[in-house]
Amino acid sequence: MSDRLIDTRADVARANRILANEGVLDAFGHVSVRHPGDPGRYLLSRSRAPELVEPEDVFEFDLNSELVKPTNSRLYAERVIHGEIYRARPDVNAVVHHHAPAMMPFCITGTSLVPVFHLGAALGAKVPFWDQKDEFGDTNLLVVKPEEGRSLARTLGPHNIVLMNRHGATVVGASVQELVFRAIYSCRNAEFQFQAQALGAIKPLSPGEIERAGKLSSLPTATHRTWEYWLMRLEKSGRAIGRAPGIAGGRRARLVTSKKKKVRGRKR
Ligand SMILES: [Zn+2]
Repeated sequence: MSDRLIDTRADVARANRILANEGVLDAFGHVSVRHPGDPGRYLLSRSRAPELVEPEDVFEFDLNSELVKPTNSRLYAERVIHGEIYRARPDVNAVVHHHAPAMMPFCITGTSLVPVFHLGAALGAKVPFWDQKDEFGDTNLLVVKPEEGRSLARTLGPHNIVLMNRHGATVVGASVQELVFRAIYSCRNAEFQFQAQALGAIKPLSPGEIERAGKLSSLPTATHRTWEYWLMRLEKSGRAIGRAPGIAGGRRARLVTSKKKKVRGRKR
């Protein structure tokens, strides 16, 4: 397995755990990252609560959301959300589907979610709203059929987040760090919007402000800084994965791997 793949599997586990630690995910929800060496594949955990995901739980799937190598492990039912978004959006390299409490009032009422503070610009100019019932009638609300995943991806269109009626939300990012940033700050925005609307009329960011502030929040200075911060909080909570955390987590992981190889080499 290549170092990049080892690092990406670890990042999938870290992103799951960060988003659980920050209240976006609970026993449900899942994060995926596009395969670093093959855009026709993505990496997703077997069916586990996100806070428990280890790099070893992360498997490769093709864009039909089928396993590349068979396993007996149980898999998430809603994998097509990931596969169909990667198929429709070549610019997307990371996806999270969640049912965060902050988002649910918006998912239930259809109230428009709009950026109400600078970091909320990560939402983008428009947050589309998808109702599974429109196309598929009565379902159990899980997105399990390829055509359901395709319909969701169509509604997401070129945007960053799609709200799912009476269910949750799906968020996309160009990188796993941008995804985690967007997932967390979109929930903050939802909380602030909800609270502010209880006080009075809100004035969302203008389209120009959304564009400018949105660019700022996807800069590495913002995404690396927040990733490091959230990893530190994960570490403090005692829920970090075994590998050394930090922005250089991948590099450190590689060093550990190569040191082990050297030691093994010397022994031989
Ligand atoms: Zn769901």
